[in-house]
Amino acid sequence: MKIGIIGSGLAGLSSAIQLAEKNTVVVFEKNDTPGGCMSSWKYNNYTLETLYHHCFSGDRNLFDLMETLGLKSDLIWLKGSTGYYMNGKLHPLTTPFEILRYPCLTFFQKCRLGLFVLSSRKIDLDPLDKITAKEYLFEKVGGDIYNAFFAPLLISKFGLMKDEVSAAWLMSRIAIRSDRGAEGERLGYLKGGWHRLIDAMCDKIRSMGAEIRLNTPAVTLTQNNGKWLINNEEFDAVISTLPPQVTNSLMVNTSIRLQSLIYQGAACMTLGLARDPANGIYWTNIGDPAPYGAVVTHTNFVPFEWYGEHVVYLASYFKDEPDAGLKDRMINDFCKRFSIDTSEIHHADLYIDRYAGPVYVTGYKDTIPQVDAGGNLFIAGMFSSENYPERSMEGSVSAGMKAAKILEEKNR
Ligand SMILES: Cc1cc2nc3c(=O)[nH]c(=O)nc-3n(C[C@H](O)[C@H](O)[C@H](O)COP(=O)(O)OP(=O)(O)OC[C@H]3O[C@@H](n4cnc5c(N)ncnc54)[C@H](O)[C@@H]3O)c2cc1C
Repeated sequence: MKIGIIGSGLAGLSSAIQLAEKNTVVVFEKNDTPGGCMSSWKYNNYTLETLYHHCFSGDRNLFDLMETLGLKSDLIWLKGSTGYYMNGKLHPLTTPFEILRYPCLTFFQKCRLGLFVLSSRKIDLDPLDKITAKEYLFEKVGGDIYNAFFAPLLISKFGLMKDEVSAAWLMSRIAIRSDRGAEGERLGYLKGGWHRLIDAMCDKIRSMGAEIRLNTPAVTLTQNNGKWLINNEEFDAVISTLPPQVTNSLMVNTSIRLQSLIYQGAACMTLGLARDPANGIYWTNIGDPAPYGAVVTHTNFVPFEWYGEHVVYLASYFKDEPDAGLKDRMINDFCKRFSIDTSEIHHADLYIDRYAGPVYVTGYKDTIPQVDAGGNLFIAGMFSSENYPERSMEGSVSAGMKAAKILEEKNR
């Protein structure tokens, strides 16, 4: 069969790896580099993800893939320390002692919060899909803890949509981020950077004779006599890894219509700095109003020596379009808040992804689209069931592989 795959993110590349041996496969990618959310920038002496990434201990399909590609032995496990910037001050929140010293919650509130976090590991997420995170938190920890601790986090992640996000998303997020010991979370990283995974996947796909066409967006997807045409080139089957509404926008001459989902965009700044702004902390959530919701100091996680400068991400999300002037506002705020002089910034690069992931609003689970969209069109990506209730590398690898398997079974 001749199969067209739209998108060279983890989902598209995982599908291609599965299918390339026995089929003629062409991957269409609109950007000049592969990887989607996992693409990387090249700097003078290092290569770095455009968006901060680490993996988690349960990422089984991702680890199997890395094993196949000979990368598993380069996966390293590191401690991820956390902090909370609140009321004009950076508070470390990693060790039990630091948590006890945190001044913005009472001792009783901290105990209640701790018990709540522990409960996240064994909770049934299904019924929580219908309840908002806010309602659930009010019931379980009360309005004071919600307002003092969770509301700023939800605002920075979802903005005006914060009250629509489901408790299923919240609790899965808490569960995955609570794989921690007394010194912090245990998080995985690939030595040298995640670009090695994307490069190895592309090499493997090409070695099986498949094509990855960069700078080649799928502009039209047309159904014609039981076949699909991508930009007028004929395919027996297609896997699209784009958000459903974007796939819809390409389709011509078909009755197939995918249900649109609410997405949000990410605007993420990468900074190379002369100084660590975060006192050794990897992940700092920003509770005070700011044009970014987290300061992710990569070199407080991965060894500084690999980079020779402090590498920091400023993470923010947006609905529809990022604000004009966002880059300047981020830099100005960051310099002021963390007492950084602009001369200490070696480089500042803003990466914008308009479709950085679905917003897991209440009822989302019932809207997850079927992999088989009909007429030998298959879909997989951040919207797939494998990425519910939070998108991940593991989710997109699994979704891509599953779509390939369903395609093969249907055409056996
Ligand atoms: C800010 C951020 C941080 C994250 N951090 C983590 C983390 O720490 N750990 C973790 O496990 N997961 C993390 N994730 C999630 C993870 O990156 C994603 O789940 C996964 O990489 C998505 O892969 P995908 O293939 O489904 O989608 P994408 O990566 O979005 O791939 C889609 C591809 O399609 C291409 N495309 C779009 N339109 C067209 C077109 N018309 N024609 C051709 N190509 C097109 C895009 O350019 C892109 O390459 C993070 C995501 C974000 C946004």
